[in-house]
Amino acid sequence: MPELPEVETVCRGLAPVLEGETFTSVQIGRKDLRKPFPKGFVKRLEGARILRVGRRAKYLLVETQKGEVHDVLIWHLGMSGQVRIYKVGETVPKPGKHDHVRFDVASGVSVVFTDPRRFGLMDLCPAQGLADHALLKAIGPEPLGNEFNGPVLAAALKGKRVAVKQAIMDAHVVAGVGNIYASEALFRAGISPKRTAATVQGGRAEKLADAIKAVLRAAIDAGGSTLRDHRTPDGGLGYFQFNFSVYGRAGEACPGCDCEISRTHGIQRLEQGGRSTYYCPRKQK
Ligand SMILES: [Zn+2]
Repeated sequence: MPELPEVETVCRGLAPVLEGETFTSVQIGRKDLRKPFPKGFVKRLEGARILRVGRRAKYLLVETQKGEVHDVLIWHLGMSGQVRIYKVGETVPKPGKHDHVRFDVASGVSVVFTDPRRFGLMDLCPAQGLADHALLKAIGPEPLGNEFNGPVLAAALKGKRVAVKQAIMDAHVVAGVGNIYASEALFRAGISPKRTAATVQGGRAEKLADAIKAVLRAAIDAGGSTLRDHRTPDGGLGYFQFNFSVYGRAGEACPGCDCEISRTHGIQRLEQGGRSTYYCPRKQK
């Protein structure tokens, strides 16, 4: 599933080809993804200028202007969504079974959204109402912004009896930290995923906030080099190779560990809230 770094990578891939352009054609292959497309979706976008491509949590936000109307296209990639950019002169293939949306802009660039499982979502919202949109209004601070830090995290975790891993995956606490990067951040901070959230205060919260920022930044950098090299696994934006320290590595030695695997069994996997967590019980307390 695309997590925040993947969405940020898509955002950085789209911004240079869309910003300042005009949508000349918008084609949808069906009435809905996870939810129906909003009324007038195609009409509102066709002919609109694209002011900015941004991101909030795991939502891409494409700000448009058509006459006096300022709209924001809210776009979630869902579980399996991919974005392909066809440059000027490149032939866009006939839409495949899972190619649901195609945007053409005046420069001749086309953008195709492919979503096999159809958990993706597109909505349109007047720009002035964006902060109050049902999908966005309850979302906590952006992890990479200045508004997120140790004291803010400590305050959000105060009184929470759930495990810290589950707490930091709660979008009210911090935006866009998913299953993979929650494991990675806790490992980097040396905090057990099983620890009660409320006990992560002071220096521990400081460390965890820093670790969340660091793992997300490292992954975004990895996504950035994928963009530069055009070496996305199957040509679509949204997925890239990133070396995880613990995620998916049960039984291996964790980076920096001097333990004997035969005795300690290395990185452990456990289930929390139906999701896999990976951690080193020796290093994470
Ligand atoms: Zn270890």
